[in-house]
Amino acid sequence: MAKSFEVLNPITEQTLYTISDTSTSDVQKVFQNVRAAQQVIAQKSIDWRIKEIYKIRDYIKANREEITNKIIEETGKARFDALTSEIFEIIDVIDVITKKVKKVLKDEKVSTPLVLLGKSSKVIYEPLGIVLIITPWNYPLYQALIPSFYAFLSGNAAVVKPSELTPLKGLIEEILTASGFMQDAIQVVYGGRETGKALIDAKPNKIHFTGSTRAGKEIMKQAAEHLIPVDLELGGKDPSIVFDDVNLSRTVNGVMWGAFTTAGQSCTSIERLYVHENIYDVFVNDIVARTKRLRTPEAKTDITQPDAYDIGCMTSPAQIKIIEAHLADATEKGAKILCGGTTKQSLQNCFLPTVVTGVNHSMKIMQEETFGPVLPIMKFKTEQQVIELANDSEYGLGASVWSKDLKRADRIARALVCGNVSINNHMITEANPNLPFGGVKQSGIGRYKGKWGLHTFSNIKSIVTDKQGSIIDPHWYPFTKEKYKMINTVLDHLIGGKLNIFKVLPAALKLDSIGKQQQIKGTQDV
Ligand code: NAD
Repeated sequence: MAKSFEVLNPITEQTLYTISDTSTSDVQKVFQNVRAAQQVIAQKSIDWRIKEIYKIRDYIKANREEITNKIIEETGKARFDALTSEIFEIIDVIDVITKKVKKVLKDEKVSTPLVLLGKSSKVIYEPLGIVLIITPWNYPLYQALIPSFYAFLSGNAAVVKPSELTPLKGLIEEILTASGFMQDAIQVVYGGRETGKALIDAKPNKIHFTGSTRAGKEIMKQAAEHLIPVDLELGGKDPSIVFDDVNLSRTVNGVMWGAFTTAGQSCTSIERLYVHENIYDVFVNDIVARTKRLRTPEAKTDITQPDAYDIGCMTSPAQIKIIEAHLADATEKGAKILCGGTTKQSLQNCFLPTVVTGVNHSMKIMQEETFGPVLPIMKFKTEQQVIELANDSEYGLGASVWSKDLKRADRIARALVCGNVSINNHMITEANPNLPFGGVKQSGIGRYKGKWGLHTFSNIKSIVTDKQGSIIDPHWYPFTKEKYKMINTVLDHLIGGKLNIFKVLPAALKLDSIGKQQQIKGTQDV
């Protein structure tokens, strides 16, 4: 029997509705429809694809208040977070990428080396087919739509499987249908892990997965059975490094946002903070004082008010257990909780913003992804020491460095083993749709967004065009001693060293004339 999942409103703690796993036969039907749609998309011009995406943009823009309500109902996030990190970002990405897409996907002439004289070379970008997009619960609209847009603009169709915790049931379909977007080009399939597996077995041409490292590994394993390429956007444990020359007030505000936005349920939230010893005490006092002033919701809070609360709820009650386990492990090993540390008494899905000191790298809170509004802070002395601490992690997604000395900040950005670094800010790389996004180590494989986001959903095809004539290439049959000698002359005087035209030219001409005369005889020659 199909497994079903209750979808909760984390703020009111009410069940909103239930979804069930999708059957394998329904998955097959979806794939049939999507494959048919993809054949049509592949024939359409890029201008047409852009116009289709603009329909979605305009609909979201016009209906953003209602769409934001729906996101908050299922995630429990603050209205500001929902508007800025989902709606605003979606529209901004569309605006930026649609201006680039024609240039990025244009046939690209590449130079042809001298040894291939007379031939011409190019790269063309073709659609892959169907892209399967599997998403997590923290940015449910953004994570579903952004990869879908990149896939569609590259000529693909997409199947989206939202998280069973935040499926936003019916919302994406409503956006697609009511906006007049092409039918069947993006399809949503509901369910949990089993539905995800059934979708992989339906053999999409590419999988774009955002979620936990655990699930990413399972998906890659299953995809390997069919040799389906995967992009994996996985977990993180972002370090943030604060030097003693910063503007304190601005930096405390920035770090606080970086740690607590979306209640810390962002893959690139600040999960470890390293503060220089010269400003450590004053920094900690200030961030604790400010954190205590952040407002949290109540069950009856009016979510339509943009300033009702700053820190939203935990979307997944299971995540609260992980946060509690990390805090318990840290305090048992000597850490101190300076504020927060528990859920709110009047609203159990709300975890109070928490600052922890006295932490070290033997603690889970500095090693494992906490994914909540928790900021552990450590003191550091030297640049080298803090680089080693920041890199002492299984993850490598994002990071930030705060300093007036931009040369030093740049040096550290280069030394960090990760995919994205913001200087004097946090997570700001994600706000620039021209930049690629992705991680290293346990944080994932592949890059998307920017031009890379279009290339990742393309079959990047190489084409070399030769002339039709009578001369055969020197490396073709028959192999002769004379040709071997000439090729060695080319090796000695053309490639891998200094060009000696007086030696190369006679050898090349000789090879040409041999190419005309010495051929394996065929029926036409007899
Ligand atoms: P999750 O891995 O539990 O689930 C994500 C999605 O994968 C869900 O739709 C789920 O149903 C599906 N899924 C799980 N196992 C599967 C399987 N074996 N086969 C097919 N589908 C499967 O993740 P989550 O708890 O929803 O999200 C939180 C995680 O996502 C965190 O680790 C966070 O860091 C990560 N995340 C990463 C990024 C990024 O861009 N790097 C962005 C947001 C969230």
